[in-house]
Amino acid sequence: AQMPGASSEALIARRRRLLGSGLELSYERPVHLLRGEGVWLWDADGRRYLDAYNNVPNVGHAHPHVVEAVARQSALLNTNTRYLHETVLDFAERLCAGMPAGLEVCAFVNCGSEANDIAWRIAKAHTGGTGALVMENAYHGGTEAVAALSPYGVSASDVAPHVRTLEAPDLYRGRFRASDPGAASGYAEAADRALASLMAAGHRPAAAMIDSAFISSGILDLPNGYLQAVAEKVRAAGGLFIADEVQYGFGRSGSHFWGFDFQGAVPDIVTMGKPVGNGHPLGVVVTRREILKSFTDRTDYFSTFGGNPVSAAAGLAVLEVLEREGLQENARATGAYFRQGVEALMARHAAIGDVRGTGLVMGVELVRDRKTQEPAPDWTRRVANLMREQGVLIGTEGPRHNVLKIRPPLCFRREHADIAIEALDRALAAI
Ligand code: PMP
Repeated sequence: AQMPGASSEALIARRRRLLGSGLELSYERPVHLLRGEGVWLWDADGRRYLDAYNNVPNVGHAHPHVVEAVARQSALLNTNTRYLHETVLDFAERLCAGMPAGLEVCAFVNCGSEANDIAWRIAKAHTGGTGALVMENAYHGGTEAVAALSPYGVSASDVAPHVRTLEAPDLYRGRFRASDPGAASGYAEAADRALASLMAAGHRPAAAMIDSAFISSGILDLPNGYLQAVAEKVRAAGGLFIADEVQYGFGRSGSHFWGFDFQGAVPDIVTMGKPVGNGHPLGVVVTRREILKSFTDRTDYFSTFGGNPVSAAAGLAVLEVLEREGLQENARATGAYFRQGVEALMARHAAIGDVRGTGLVMGVELVRDRKTQEPAPDWTRRVANLMREQGVLIGTEGPRHNVLKIRPPLCFRREHADIAIEALDRALAAI
């Protein structure tokens, strides 16, 4: 038998040969995972890892109810989506039941990128506009249209001509801080400038697309009222507000099922990906009836796989588990406990500059110096790697690559938070 190390090296080389060398792997010593259950993962050597990173397995890795639903439906029938089938309707009904009034029709697709791509086409068709507002450093996906809406790592001067970026409402580093009562309106004014600039360039706005969790901005705690203010400005200019719930949707904030709800804003279009199928590839666009009609009247849009019986069974099963196991409430309670534990580490570790997030999404910003706030991307990378060596998976995020990204499955409990806090404590001590 090969030595475990050798086998890992061989796999990396084979991957480079077959997939190219541009696809980045997580961690200096990539993990080779073979099995998952709940919040736990096992690698090829039988070593166990605590998953404090992944929101795709939202209700837990290999959840038996989801697995059973997918297996049962796969054994019975899967087809394209031009036939009558009840499961997709049951799923749509249940999804829309938790939406603000009027958000009542669904378009089913296969991932978050495609959901955002269709949402963008819908917004253009409905408004007749061509311009977009997105956050600086936003990521919304990989199709050509959505890549243009994803200035992740792109400087403001290099964004597409029909796109304007909004200054991130960063209460830790930005122009307005947490103590500033004018922070929400101060940051939202960026939307006025962006809209004026779009109009001046001949682009009426079609939409603002915003990730409700502000993940790629470094996981931000928003000033109260910021998101509503941006949504209102865009609507007043004739555009729509698209809430990208690929990260925050399905109970993660703990207090609310949807991130936009948590932020107190009502969207015109909601897009979903990652957690919606617990790992089964699935994306959804939910919007108002007349908005979708504007699009379907002008196109013969169709998705072969979107909302197929197996995908619909997966999505429906995820909603059933979320409710049955009270996972939103667990996100609230465990998230509060977890954040408190990480905040307590600030007393011992000067490298922690800021702790952000609500429910089971947490950003821990690392700095070389709390006064100067000099970012510590090298320490951040090392902490993620040191935690991996201790068997706890987290990631790094943010425009300065100095935010620890913690976003576990929603079945993460206090005993798991304790393990993660201890590993973080040790990793910070080692740097
Ligand atoms: N929107 C957001 C906010 C995301 O984080 C991502 C993926 N990281 C996407 C959209 C794209 O989703 P997918 O990779 O499933 O196409």
